[in-house]
Amino acid sequence: MERTLVLVKPDAIQRGLIGTIMNRFERKGLKLIALKFMKLDDALINKHYAHLVDKPFFPFIKAFMTSAPVIASVWEGLDCIEIVRRIAGITNARQAETGTIRGDFGVSVQKNLIHASDGPEAAEEEIARFFQPDELQAYDLFMTAVLYSGDELGG
Ligand code: UDP
Ligand code: MG
Repeated sequence: MERTLVLVKPDAIQRGLIGTIMNRFERKGLKLIALKFMKLDDALINKHYAHLVDKPFFPFIKAFMTSAPVIASVWEGLDCIEIVRRIAGITNARQAETGTIRGDFGVSVQKNLIHASDGPEAAEEEIARFFQPDELQAYDLFMTAVLYSGDELGG
C-alpha cells in the first residue's frame, strides 16, 4: 500500500478546520498511521520547501508556516498519494475545484490549508523528514476488508 504525508497548515489550525480536514481522509477510507502536532523550525522548512527557497515569496512561506503549529500525518491506501492530492485541490485555492479542501475553504495561493506529497519519491522523503520509523503505527484497520476487494488486497 502507498503512503503519503499530509500537513494541516497554520491557517487551518487558526480557522478551526483540523477535524474537517482530517475527516476528508477518514471518510474516503484512508488509514491513519502517524500523527503529530508540532511547530516547524527553520531547518525543516528549508528542506521541505527547498524547491522554493529562491522565490521572492519564500520569506512569507516561512513566516506563515511558523506562525502556529501544524498537524503532520501519514495516510495509507491504494494510490493514496494521488487520492490525497486530488482531495486537497490545486495549489491556488482561488482556482481549486469546489469539493476539494482548498476549493471549499481557501482563497489564497499561500494560505491553502494543507500540504500533500506530490509523488512516491517525495512521499518517502517527507515521511522520513517528519517521523521516526517507530512513530508509524502498525495495526489492522478492520474496515479494510469492506473498503477493498480481495484481489485488490493481493489475495
Ligand atoms: N506557494 C506560495 N506561492 C506560490 C506557490 C506556492 O506561497 O506562488 C506556497 C503554497 O503554500 C504552496 C507551497 O508554497 O502550498 C508549496 O508550493 P508547491 O508548488 O509545492 O504547491 P503544493 O504542492 O503545495 O500544491
Ligand atoms: Mg508541493
